[in-house]
Amino acid sequence: MIEEKSCPLCGANSFKEVFKAPYFRGDGELFAIKECENCELWFTSPRPANEDLGKYYESEDYISHSDKRESIIDHVYHLVRTYSLKKKVNLITRLNGEVGRLLDFGAGTGHFVKQAKIAGWDVIGLEPSADARNVAAKNGDTKLEDPSAFDWTEAKMNVISLWHVLEHVTDLHLKMQDFNNALIDGGILIIAVPNHESYDSQVYGKNWAALDVPLHLYHFKKRNIKELAEKFGFVLEEVINMPFDSYYVSMLSEKVESGKQNLIKGFWTGFKSNLKGLRTKNQSSLVYVLRKPK
Ligand SMILES: [Zn+2]
Repeated sequence: MIEEKSCPLCGANSFKEVFKAPYFRGDGELFAIKECENCELWFTSPRPANEDLGKYYESEDYISHSDKRESIIDHVYHLVRTYSLKKKVNLITRLNGEVGRLLDFGAGTGHFVKQAKIAGWDVIGLEPSADARNVAAKNGDTKLEDPSAFDWTEAKMNVISLWHVLEHVTDLHLKMQDFNNALIDGGILIIAVPNHESYDSQVYGKNWAALDVPLHLYHFKKRNIKELAEKFGFVLEEVINMPFDSYYVSMLSEKVESGKQNLIKGFWTGFKSNLKGLRTKNQSSLVYVLRKPK
């Protein structure tokens, strides 16, 4: 286990424990979440060493890497995914003004890469998990690359996207610098992450499924991403709500909390969360648009 001695965002070294959250994908093992007293970042600490993290991803229901359709929640997830993939591609095309060169980091099983290609983007998908890369090749006919072999300095990308990936990245600072290096001036970095200032997060507390310990190493809120952006030479240009995530996350959180599926209650919490987060841009998940200045 690794105990963080300094804040992964600002480097300060005084923290307080927020609570201990369960590894709900597995045996319920508890992981402490700390809050930095300087920048207020939440992070999982202690957390498994890098070489031990892999086994926490091997849980049967790690849905991002699988394509099975079993429970109702999984079914909802897959239905919504198809619709939201198209919305994501439309979003990056709008932000960039036209199609161009796109790098999707943490591409999972390659669904977004595939959809972006269909829309005319020149896409590279990077995915560290060999299993996920194999699924992408088989199901989606999408070839993904191993990020360890990627040359970040020669990439010249218009857009780099991370759909629920940054919270998993062990070398946060190194990667942020890589993203900056790989973008052209004026290029865009898209970061989608859960937002623990959302209503659904407050309802479920330590059982909020989007904490997803120990897979999620950091638990961001808006001020954290703004600071991270500025630290690595980006300007935070826009914050966009992701309304579908609150339903999925709330339904999953009901199950974490009670051990039972309570879809209606979960759906209702998700609905309220979207309504409450609409104007304040505080829904369950947010998309941050970071621009590398010209
Ligand atoms: Zn900090």
